[in-house]
Amino acid sequence: MASSKSKQSLLLPHFLLFPVMAQGHQIPMAELAKLLSQSGVKTTLITTPQNATRIQSLLSQSPLTQIIQLPFPSHQQHLLQNCENFDSLPSLHLLPQFLTATSFLYSEIEHLFPQLSPKPCCIVSDMALPWTIQIAHKFNVPRLVFYSLSAFYLLFMATLRATDFGEKIMAASDYELISIPNFPDSIQVTKSQLVFTLDPVFLEWGNQMAKADRASYGFIMNSFNGLEPKYLEEFKKTIGSDKVWCIGPVSLCNKDTKDKAKRGNKAAIDEQECMKWLDKQESESVIYAALGSICNVIAPQIIELGLALEASNKPFIWVIRQTKSTKKEVENWLAESEFEQRIKDRGLVIRGWAPQVLILSHPAVGGFVTHCGWNSTIEGISMGVPMVTWPLFSDQTFNEKLIVEVLRIGVSVGVEKCLRWGVEEEIGVQVKKEAIRGAIEKVMSGEGEEMRKRVRELAAIAKATMEEGGSSHLNLKRLIEEIMHQADSQQSQN
Ligand code: UDP
Repeated sequence: MASSKSKQSLLLPHFLLFPVMAQGHQIPMAELAKLLSQSGVKTTLITTPQNATRIQSLLSQSPLTQIIQLPFPSHQQHLLQNCENFDSLPSLHLLPQFLTATSFLYSEIEHLFPQLSPKPCCIVSDMALPWTIQIAHKFNVPRLVFYSLSAFYLLFMATLRATDFGEKIMAASDYELISIPNFPDSIQVTKSQLVFTLDPVFLEWGNQMAKADRASYGFIMNSFNGLEPKYLEEFKKTIGSDKVWCIGPVSLCNKDTKDKAKRGNKAAIDEQECMKWLDKQESESVIYAALGSICNVIAPQIIELGLALEASNKPFIWVIRQTKSTKKEVENWLAESEFEQRIKDRGLVIRGWAPQVLILSHPAVGGFVTHCGWNSTIEGISMGVPMVTWPLFSDQTFNEKLIVEVLRIGVSVGVEKCLRWGVEEEIGVQVKKEAIRGAIEKVMSGEGEEMRKRVRELAAIAKATMEEGGSSHLNLKRLIEEIMHQADSQQSQN
């Protein structure tokens, strides 16, 4: 799709991409690279060796994309050796150190940048890498911020910074419902839902990100115009910029089975076996339960989910993330209770990485028990699957509100307090089997019919949006044109 202006441009479009080393960030960024590559843009993606291995297969059909590997500077923050991704941290409370360590890549990139040919026209940085603004300044290129987040959540964060809402919430009691100011719909939150968002360490990191964002050229979002238009408009107004390009859902760039199966890691199940199992199930009868790539759910809580899936009496696929702290206890329970034996005729347990998009795109899947990570949310929407919402922390609480209260395509399991990193054991079991089973029942039964209808409509819009002439397709085209126009003007000034 070379654009008219980029065709006229004498410069070859070259975008330099900086994903943060977490599955929920690097997968959508790699998908953005794939989309740019399909549009005739050369992309160079900077990451570390372990992360390069994970995303390589996603980019195997993108000849214009190259990955440059730099060693992760783990020694700078006394992080464990071989810890190059959020999902290999022993506890998520080490995340601030991990993010600080990434900034030590700066000097390597300072050295590398002048060797890149042609000179990159811009950098696209994950929002969680505020230090990349210095690269943009040093080499005089625009910085675009990539958000795999909803406009709904971004508007909340912008509101938090622009008003005294944070103080108001802090002064409230734990479960008091307080309306969010300046929101297009009447949405309420409690202090308990915000303990993570209002943690001083993360607020400080958020301030650094916001400072770098203000100095940036614009924002690329993994959302689409038709999904949350009122929130998108209000977000642009609040930040005082209309340089916001919605170019998603990026996962829709994966068209065939192989592409869908090879996103971000080697799956712990053979994709053919998984498809064969799904092919045997009735249309929209299967529940898919997966809580993302960094979920910090304790073993007794994982077990409640397993029991709820069993009690649902529906066929299901249950993805169990295996961590050092939970693996032994969960495995012992699975063996002692003979769980897999009990559910063998209608349940599939995946230990480790699941081919999520492939599963969600199968017509047998009728419900998605999700932690409401933004990628999972938008993937569920793109595939027309109604959701059972179980947010754990951060933006997930807001994504749940968007799903349940605004879009009305899901049912909450009723989590009242978000998790904090490092103290999960103290918090204990938050959701009991009955609450999960009840929410599944509502989504999968006749009661869920209206939700199913709405989410199918959104899925049709999502698909159309990514096709030639659709809004996300056009937005990407306009973005490339604008960046090339900038690069041309700069070239003529020099
Ligand atoms: N994912 C997957 N298989 C898994 C776990 C996760 O394919 O077993 C993908 C999922 O499709 C999504 C990303 O990893 O694209 C997770 O991002 P999300 O924002 O949903 O949650 P996070 O992992 O960041 O909490």
